[in-house]
Amino acid sequence: MKYFDYAATTPPYPEVVRAMSQIMDKHYGNPSSLHRYGEESERLIRRAREVTAGILDVQPAEIIWTSGATESNNLAIKGAALRKGRMQGHLITTMIEHPSVYETFRQLELFGFEVSYINPQPNGTVSPEDILAAIRPDTILVSVMHVNNETGAVQPIEQITRLIKSHHPRVLVHVDGVQGFGKIPMSLKEWGIDLYSLSAHKLRGPKGTGLLYVKLGLELLPLLAGGGQEQGYRSGTENAAGIAGMTKALRLITEQQPQQYKHLCRLRDTLQQAICDIPGLVLTEVIPVAPHIIHFMYPGMKSEVVLHSLEQQGCLVSTQSACSSRKSVPSRVLTAMGMDREHAGSGIRISLGDKHTSEDVEYLIGALRQTVQSLRSLERR
Ligand code: PMP
Repeated sequence: MKYFDYAATTPPYPEVVRAMSQIMDKHYGNPSSLHRYGEESERLIRRAREVTAGILDVQPAEIIWTSGATESNNLAIKGAALRKGRMQGHLITTMIEHPSVYETFRQLELFGFEVSYINPQPNGTVSPEDILAAIRPDTILVSVMHVNNETGAVQPIEQITRLIKSHHPRVLVHVDGVQGFGKIPMSLKEWGIDLYSLSAHKLRGPKGTGLLYVKLGLELLPLLAGGGQEQGYRSGTENAAGIAGMTKALRLITEQQPQQYKHLCRLRDTLQQAICDIPGLVLTEVIPVAPHIIHFMYPGMKSEVVLHSLEQQGCLVSTQSACSSRKSVPSRVLTAMGMDREHAGSGIRISLGDKHTSEDVEYLIGALRQTVQSLRSLERR
C-alpha cells in the first residue's frame, strides 16, 4: 500500500519512537513529584520547552503543552472568549476552518456569543479586508487557519494579523498552524500572532500531544481545572514522552523544511499537471497552495467511490478532512468556496510527505488513470 494521507496523520520518525520508548521505560516519574524521579521528568519537560521555544523563536513560558491541536484550538478560542467570566461579545472566524475551530465557535454561540463566519474567495483564501470589515467595538478574537487541511489554500496570515493589529491592537489573533508548520515559513513574533496551535502527529511526531503558543501575560480561562500544571493554563499530569517526541519531531522537520519544500513542490506540480490531463477530473485551483496538499474533484462521482477505487489500486487518499470524512454531507469548505453539491461531494485530497519519491507519484498517477477508466466503464454498463 502507498500512503498519500499525510494531512490526516504521519508516520512518526524512528528517532521519535526510540526517544519516547526510552522515556516511557526509564523516566516514568510524575513531573510534579518532589523526589528524583519527578525531578528527572520535570527536567525533561523543561528542556523540551526550551528547545521548542527556540524553534518557534518565543519564550519558554509561552509554550503550553496540550493533548493535540483540537485541545489547543478549544483552549485558545474558549479560553479567550470566556476569560474574566465573560459570557458575551463578538468573535470572528472563517467558513473553512477545521471542525475543532468551527464547532468551538458554534458552541460559543450557544453560550450567547455572536460569531461572524467569513466566506473564502473562489481561490480558497479569505480576504484580509473582509476580516477587517467584520471587526466591531466588542470583537474579542479572530481565528484563521494558516493552511486549509482540505484544499491546501495558504491563508494570508501575515497580512491579516498586521491589518488587525494596526487598526485594532486589542483584538486577539489565533492561528491554527497545524497544516502550515514545517511546510511553509512563518514567524509568530514578526507576524504578531497571539495564540498558535500545533499538533505533533502531523509533523511525524506522536498522537495525543500538541501545543498552544500563548503570548506572554495573556489571560485565558483554562478548559481543564485541576492541579495547575502548565502555569495553570492546562491542568493534568504532563505527557513527558509525548512532549519529548513532539520536540524531536519539531526539530527534525524544521531542519529539513527548506529542502522538503522544494521536493514537495516538485511532486505536487507533477501530480497537479497529471490531474489536469486526465479527462473527467477537475483540479481544485487554490492560490497560493501549500506544497503537500493536492485536491481534485470527479464531478458526478461520490468521493468515497473514488477513494475506495484508488485503495483497490494500492493508494490511500482522503475525502474531506479525516475528522469529517465519515459524515456524508458535501464539504463545508468547498461549499463555502462556491462549489455546487455535485462538485463539493466529489472531492479527493492527496497529501504528500518527505518520504515520497517521484516513483510513488508516478504510481499514484497510474492508479488515478486506472480508477477513472474503471469507474467510467461501470457507468456505461
Ligand atoms: N487543525 C487542523 C487544520 C487539522 O488538520 C487537524 C487534524 N485533522 C486539527 C486541527 C486537529 O488536530 P489533532 O488531531 O491534534 O486534534
